[in-house]
Amino acid sequence: FAKEFGGHQYQLYSSQFGKQANRRLQLEQRLRKAMEEKNLEVVYQPKLDLFTNSISGMEALIRWNDPILGEVSPAEFIPIAEETGIIISIGKWVLETACKQNREWDRNGYPKIHVCVNISSKQFLQDDFVKMIKHVLNEADLSPEYLNLEITERIALYDIDDAIGKLQQLKQLGVSISLDDFGTGYSSLSYLKLLPIDFLKIDRSFISGIFENKQDVAIIDSIISLTHSLGMRVVAEGVEDEQQLNILSEMRCDEIQGFYYAKPMTAKDINIFLDKKGEFHLVDRG
Ligand code: C2E
Ligand code: MG
Ligand code: MG
Ligand code: MG
Repeated sequence: FAKEFGGHQYQLYSSQFGKQANRRLQLEQRLRKAMEEKNLEVVYQPKLDLFTNSISGMEALIRWNDPILGEVSPAEFIPIAEETGIIISIGKWVLETACKQNREWDRNGYPKIHVCVNISSKQFLQDDFVKMIKHVLNEADLSPEYLNLEITERIALYDIDDAIGKLQQLKQLGVSISLDDFGTGYSSLSYLKLLPIDFLKIDRSFISGIFENKQDVAIIDSIISLTHSLGMRVVAEGVEDEQQLNILSEMRCDEIQGFYYAKPMTAKDINIFLDKKGEFHLVDRG
């Protein structure tokens, strides 16, 4: 009986494993096709400056709507793109698209703001990363101060001196840097001291717990003070309601991003949003 039972379990395990491996393989194949067939799109999510009450920038986020698989979340396909190396070409494409789009908004007379582009550590670790950034900026005719790169601490795990060197070159160029997803994964305070960073983005998981969890409030409060004393700005991500915004504003958080202010939108919808000046009525809402 034991043997039979064991065998049965193995079958169950192997079929689940098979399903996962299958999905993974299919995603990889479809993703390569999506690049050729242009089924990828970049959407933009505005950030709100709490001191000026105006839009301070937007984050470029990739979207994939596959004719067979339907909408696939970046949370599912970005890791696969990283493992297979496809992220190098996808990442460059997002960067080119976002830079060209930002230059176009500027040409159309919209306020000059930066576009934030998520950079995978695999991309950052390429020897020619800084050269690639310069090239893309040149091609798009975009001034470097209108580009912000969102990195995570993972870029520093492999060779911290190399990471610092690249970040310094980028900053000399005029490109600004955000440290994304702060508070998750490898977050270490020593990185804050070592890496030349302009913005720190507090992860959504801390913001969602802001009312149920006194510890989260204490953590956010100290992250904000620490970040300010190091001369950086703080962005809170995933702000979904007015209460969260108010408490962050009291804690002197510099910028917020989240569904409450604006959801990620197509470039076309951003035009409409910018026509309304991206203003947010903190007082006379509702
Ligand atoms: P991220 O960079 O931390 O981006 C924030 C994610 O939170 C986005 O998910 C955004 O749509 C979502 N979000 C924003 N505001 C709210 C809110 O108020 N509530 C909730 N529930 N969610 C909110 P998305 O677009 O699915 O992207 C997930 C992750 O995939 C990103 O996290 C980023 O790590 C990665 N990613 C997306 N686009 C790219 C890309 O072009 N390149 C690379 N390397 N990674 C990307
Ligand atoms: Mg990001
Ligand atoms: Mg983030
Ligand atoms: Mg995140």
